[in-house]
Amino acid sequence: MKNLIRNIIGILLLILLIYIAYGTEIKDYFSKENKHENVVLNDKDKFKIYFIDVGEADCTLIKNGNEYTLIDAGNNHDGLKLVDYFKSLGITKFKYVIATHLHEDHIGGMDYIIKNFDIEHYYMPDVTSEYLTFTEVVNALKEKHIKWEVPEMDSTFNMGDAKFTVLWISKDEEEINDTSIVLKLDFKNTSYLFTGDATKNVELKILDKDLKSDVLKVSHHGSSDASSSQFLVKVDPKYAIISVATVNDYHHPHDITLKKLNELNVKTYRTDKDGTIVLSSDGENYYFETIKTDTNNE
Ligand SMILES: [Zn+2]
Repeated sequence: MKNLIRNIIGILLLILLIYIAYGTEIKDYFSKENKHENVVLNDKDKFKIYFIDVGEADCTLIKNGNEYTLIDAGNNHDGLKLVDYFKSLGITKFKYVIATHLHEDHIGGMDYIIKNFDIEHYYMPDVTSEYLTFTEVVNALKEKHIKWEVPEMDSTFNMGDAKFTVLWISKDEEEINDTSIVLKLDFKNTSYLFTGDATKNVELKILDKDLKSDVLKVSHHGSSDASSSQFLVKVDPKYAIISVATVNDYHHPHDITLKKLNELNVKTYRTDKDGTIVLSSDGENYYFETIKTDTNNE
């Protein structure tokens, strides 16, 4: 009996010593996990971001209250599926629809979106293209009498109590990816960075801006021509999202990008592995869900 008591006291003393030595770290570890991720939110449906699985393409839906914003619309063959998915969510109107740049994997499904929903503001860089997919977008805008607006660098626009800031937009770039509209979204104490397919050239030019964001939508499907170390350190994200196909000709996401994110302890979600990633926030905490949606037509 005496031995048992001695052992228990010994164990308790050991626990006490460990706590004295590492208490702060232990507390930090648990509070970090609990404070920011997968806590039960009071209102999980108020603010949501859907990183939609569209294979080797981009499509991000943002909901704040009863307002919706769409950033990019997948490939051409995803268009009808996206229309069906948005209708299933009860969406009839977008406050903002933003085409980051003119590549098919970003504006391919856009003409379907324009034809099927009311759109208050349509944003796209001041760039033209000879490709059919661009002509289809312009024709759809004309048919619906929707104005093609070009937002100014550093301008802001609001979606309820969330605010977008245009960190980059250009029309004179050798590389069409570098005309991408780069947006930061602030919602209460949370922040999100959407980079389109902007490369390191752009990252370098906006390095002095307020890039710090909790969630980074990784540029150019995780390509090694974006996500420079300097940029990632300035953004300092807790979470990263990569929109990419299981099989693609570009070796996206690049191992170097994944390695950098890993070294910075960034928790990374990928549409090829996770499907559609749905983030909810109350402006302080995050709740992530991964779901299967019928939106990837590859
Ligand atoms: Zn792309």
